[in-house]
Amino acid sequence: MIPMVDLNLQYHRLKNEIDSGIRDVLEKCQFILGPNVTAFESEAAEYLGVPHAVAVASGTDALHLALAAAGIGPGDEVITSPFTFIATAEAIRYVGATPVFTDIDPQTFNIDPAKIEAAITPATRAIIPVHLFGQPADMSAITDICDRHALLLVEDCAQSFGAATLGETMTGAIGSFGCFSFFPSKNLGCYGDGGMVTLASAELADSVRVLRNHGSRQRYHHHVIGFNSRLDEIQAVILREKLKHIDEYNANRRRVAKLYNELLSGLDIVVPYEDGKCVHVYHQYTILSDQRERIMKELAEQQISSAIYYPIPLHRQDVFAEAYRDCSLPVAENVVKNCLSLPIFPEMSEEQIVRVANAIKNTFV
Ligand SMILES: *Cc1c(COP(=O)(O)O)cnc(C)c1O
Repeated sequence: MIPMVDLNLQYHRLKNEIDSGIRDVLEKCQFILGPNVTAFESEAAEYLGVPHAVAVASGTDALHLALAAAGIGPGDEVITSPFTFIATAEAIRYVGATPVFTDIDPQTFNIDPAKIEAAITPATRAIIPVHLFGQPADMSAITDICDRHALLLVEDCAQSFGAATLGETMTGAIGSFGCFSFFPSKNLGCYGDGGMVTLASAELADSVRVLRNHGSRQRYHHHVIGFNSRLDEIQAVILREKLKHIDEYNANRRRVAKLYNELLSGLDIVVPYEDGKCVHVYHQYTILSDQRERIMKELAEQQISSAIYYPIPLHRQDVFAEAYRDCSLPVAENVVKNCLSLPIFPEMSEEQIVRVANAIKNTFV
């Protein structure tokens, strides 16, 4: 069986370090906002090249608290991609603002900067590009639009830890906020839920810290309504250990993608596009094919996992369908019909990659 991601293998390679780190937390009994969270925040900030990092309970919360700290609220519009996980749009709704979906680029699957400007209204306050599947969105064009229209730039980095653009600038260090998820299957994942907000502004970092901890700076003194959204010490221990290996993990994801590209060339499928200007970290390896159902069936017969990320664009999800009935985003609507993600993880062996590629070739003979 070849899974989409093999978390067990990754755990066993770091088992001694992770087990002893967790045992240490259990012995010391400081579980919430302790020394490992503080250390992880500064190690992650240094790795990403950002002045501040605030660890929170999930990627969804990272987006929510970033928008809340920025004062986005009812009456405000936030432009984002329709081809993403629902959390991107949920966070916009949590603060009472309205998601405005604009179409994606057919090659990168990221929000298309050329479509953004037409969607800007006097109510627009922010843009949330998603660095989908580990590939940075076109940040030079999006930064330029934000500057010209005085819009806040909030990066959804849930799938892009370690991805870089604009001359080696890491995703999460470009906009006013970077929002990361440490869900177990993400490129940097813990063993439960976790997330992080990165930012340049000390003032906004303080706001996020206050919001994640019940609106409190000093214990039992509360000056705003906040949330309970903290990363715990056990997750921080795991993340600190995995952060040491993130470059190797991402390099190996690129290795897998490169071999897939070679083995799948010449077939009537579209392999992932890379513009050569940024570092894609292949959270997913996603192909396009009008033979998707046949490929999935063949893979399943050979005990190989595959998955459709994502089968429905957000403006067509039940929860939004009524409100966005008149919204037409043909590129996203077309991509969801043909996209298929293949197994990819740092520990994937050449033999496994060849097996997947051969199974796909089989469907074309
Ligand atoms: C995973 C993900 C999120 C949400 O992160 P959680 O940690 O699961 O809350 C947000 N946006 C995108 C693009 C994601 O892939």
